[in-house]
Amino acid sequence: MRTMRSFITLAAVFTSSAAGARAPARFARAASRVAARPMMAARTALIAGNWKMNTVLPEALKLAAAVKDASVGAPGDVAICVPFPFLESVSKVLAGSKVGLGAQDCSEADKGAFTGAVSTGMLQSVGCAYVLTGHSERRSIFGESDALINLKTKKVLSAGLKCILCVGELKEQREDGTTDKVVAAQLAAGLKDVSEEQLGSIVIAYEPVWAIGTGLTATPEQAQDTHAAIRKWVQGAYSAAAADRLVIQYGGSVTPETVDELMACPDIDGALVGGASLVADKFARIVNFKA
Ligand code: PEP
Repeated sequence: MRTMRSFITLAAVFTSSAAGARAPARFARAASRVAARPMMAARTALIAGNWKMNTVLPEALKLAAAVKDASVGAPGDVAICVPFPFLESVSKVLAGSKVGLGAQDCSEADKGAFTGAVSTGMLQSVGCAYVLTGHSERRSIFGESDALINLKTKKVLSAGLKCILCVGELKEQREDGTTDKVVAAQLAAGLKDVSEEQLGSIVIAYEPVWAIGTGLTATPEQAQDTHAAIRKWVQGAYSAAAADRLVIQYGGSVTPETVDELMACPDIDGALVGGASLVADKFARIVNFKA
């Protein structure tokens, strides 16, 4: 079983035949489209489910148990971001499994008079390992600014938790060709004052807003191009090594039918899955992607 995805990049010592020997044809084709990179990176894939505001407790427990079972032989890491009220109970279901527990949001404050808010300390105390920040629904429905997302991201990191920072363009922005610019601005703002060391606890989820919950998935080419642009941005803002290490997930209507081709792309290191993560059989197939 392969637990680590190896990405052949451009070291002169790795010939195209070596890449072909390690990867299926689709992967090799996608790899050939990617610009030269100076070393070989090994990144562990991460498939994360985002349950959003769905499930009641019995459903949550049943779904978590199904994810636990399905993840036993999964090729990468697995996490589920569940509603706040179910974190502790789900944590007990997941005990002893490889499935990480995640929250969908957190407060930028530590404690105090913030009615309804949930701190990173609270999340840690019930076994959370991951927190989502910058999800497009938090941006658009709850009006979260890049500055607030940055505060939350830094709070997650300073608590020692892993942060899945979501970025992505609107439909109009993709259509007018400004995707890379929009995503770069979200990265610059979301990662402001985040050190290279802290970046090691960040996963970027590239989620084109037009693909979230719509049934429209970015093509592997569209997703790969933007993932490569994200990696290039990180290389410029941090270093080639940091860019090479960074896990970048794709999110936006991922299904069992689309996951393998997406995961075959060299810069796609995982998926953030909404709708399909609520259906046990579908998520089971997604966590057991073949690439
Ligand atoms: C998401 O909520 O992050 C998401 C990608 O949702 P969906 O898979 O339903 O598009």
